[in-house]
Amino acid sequence: MREQNFCFPEQQRACLTITPSLYDRRALDCTAPLPLLTSLMHLSLMTSTSQRVREALSVDGGLERLTHILETTSRSDNRDRRSAWRWILAYHCLVNVGVRSSEHIRARVERSGGVRVIIPWAANLVTTRLRRATNPAHSPASMDEDDAQDAATVASTVRRQQEFAAAAAAAATAVFTANEPPFREEDILLALQLLAYLSKHPRIRDRLHVDYPVNVFTLVERFCARHHSNTIQLWAGVVMRNGCRKDDTRGGLRRCAYLHCGHWETTPHEFAKCRRCRKAKYCSKQCQSRAWSDGHRYWCVARQSTAAGATGMMAMATAATTVTATIATTMTAATNTAT
Ligand SMILES: [Zn+2]
Ligand SMILES: [Zn+2]
Repeated sequence: MREQNFCFPEQQRACLTITPSLYDRRALDCTAPLPLLTSLMHLSLMTSTSQRVREALSVDGGLERLTHILETTSRSDNRDRRSAWRWILAYHCLVNVGVRSSEHIRARVERSGGVRVIIPWAANLVTTRLRRATNPAHSPASMDEDDAQDAATVASTVRRQQEFAAAAAAAATAVFTANEPPFREEDILLALQLLAYLSKHPRIRDRLHVDYPVNVFTLVERFCARHHSNTIQLWAGVVMRNGCRKDDTRGGLRRCAYLHCGHWETTPHEFAKCRRCRKAKYCSKQCQSRAWSDGHRYWCVARQSTAAGATGMMAMATAATTVTATIATTMTAATNTAT
């Protein structure tokens, strides 16, 4: 039986901590705030540089411990500033492991709750916006400013959005809605980055479609809307396009890209592609028009020329650099808090 790594000041026993050169899983069980913060700070650096540490976390229960910290720690720094830092650093550790690892470790990140901790706040953000959009006090035109749709299409879109809002609201647990500060832009960006890497793999992608209270792609699609920043739209678009990839484990078949349909092709190339982006495939015209009004119009990008593709890649690289810089800034600030 492993000894609990509590702090015993009366007995003059030191806590275990993770240092820049030593990873010890037991340090994550520490209940004293300051040593745990120091450990998470060093672990955040280690997960960005060491494949061995990322592998160790995937087999020693470290990922489960990180998701537990995320689910039980308040992001509010009203009472305890260290609590907010603890959340941010544990979040960075989890995202680092998911983004920089191979498929089997990414599957472990998803299984250990890496997506489960993202869904409530994403659903919460989406629900807040949808409540405003589907409120009868607002005119249908205010729902999406840039689309001229006929009345019947608007009515059916509003009805589907209300159903979706109800499902999203059910996914937004009380823990995350009660007195928690809104998510920062960089937190959303990191979540979308994590989902972009996880959704590359067919098995994980399947789970994102069906294993959560709400289809994860329906949440991500909301972040493609134009009121979000360009970087958020960019990463949300990557996740959505990953969702349309063919599944090589099923002989190259694809799922209907209308997220509330989910029919699979029975033979390769059975479904028709969206002519504009040539990524999304639909089992019927009806699915295509519903998907368009639900949100495909936001991430449907005309197939790019080589030059435009290179520009897109540069934009992605810039976005990734921004996220790395954000993490570096966070680390510096956390160091100041911990010392
Ligand atoms: Zn369909
Ligand atoms: Zn399209």
